[in-house]
Amino acid sequence: MTPTPPRGSATPPNAASNAAPDTAPNATSNAAPGAPLNAAFDTASNAAPDTTTLNAALKDVPNDAPDTPPADRRDALKITELFHSLQGESLTAGVPTVFVRLTGCPLRCHYCDTAYAFSGGHWMDIADILAQVGRYDAGYVTVTGGEPLAQKRCPQLLAALCDAGYRVSLETAGSHDIAVVDPRVVIVMDIKTPGSGEDARNRYANIARLRGGDQVKFVICDRADYDWAKRKLDEHRLSERCCVLFSPGYGRMDAAELAGWILRDRLRVRLQLQLHKILWGEERGR
Ligand code: SF4
Repeated sequence: MTPTPPRGSATPPNAASNAAPDTAPNATSNAAPGAPLNAAFDTASNAAPDTTTLNAALKDVPNDAPDTPPADRRDALKITELFHSLQGESLTAGVPTVFVRLTGCPLRCHYCDTAYAFSGGHWMDIADILAQVGRYDAGYVTVTGGEPLAQKRCPQLLAALCDAGYRVSLETAGSHDIAVVDPRVVIVMDIKTPGSGEDARNRYANIARLRGGDQVKFVICDRADYDWAKRKLDEHRLSERCCVLFSPGYGRMDAAELAGWILRDRLRVRLQLQLHKILWGEERGR
């Protein structure tokens, strides 16, 4: 078997694939944990966060990025929720996926819809996470946040999921070094636009570490964001490096208008709609 080269080595041609995962891992049970598991998490409210009013207070929400697990649980991570749904974004949109949402994020994007992951959560050992993931009998796992890489044991978790036979993706804000990520993992990395309020946090050195199967995502909030993203496309020749996703900011940018701009400018990007929000709105755990 050809070994997977490390991140930062020569970028292969655009090898992104829409193929659904076809290899089921070693599932321990076909029974999904459902309510009993979710009850273990902080499910005090399933209500969608009101981003309009919530975001005004985001700066005051503490970042509970927990890097110090209890002394007897050195490989534990703090988990906000673990659930089974359809992949809502990226090239695998629509594929049944187990999501592992890690607690904590040092960023405060204006449009954040997962502020509930900034703090709280529950410690879980990597073995426990694998056991819970396995009960859904899905072949695909996405580790998300918050910002997953804000927890130092995230790379261990990703490698363990790969070792267990899962197809794995990581959703990251792009502010942390992705060199620590196992090369078997598909990275879906944001480049934060000015509309996020966090564009100063972009770690552009990550771009050189992307591989052909990775994806870069811009959340476009308005025309100024679009023009900014176009400049970044040219500056970093992103479309030649990997798949580039343009996603209209939910409730902020008209998707059809963005589609028109992309077509008129002949951009080599992919318009992405958030499938889970089309299906279920902002319902938590979807
Ligand atoms: S990086 Fe993601 S989780 Fe963190 S504030 Fe921005 S949108 Fe929210």
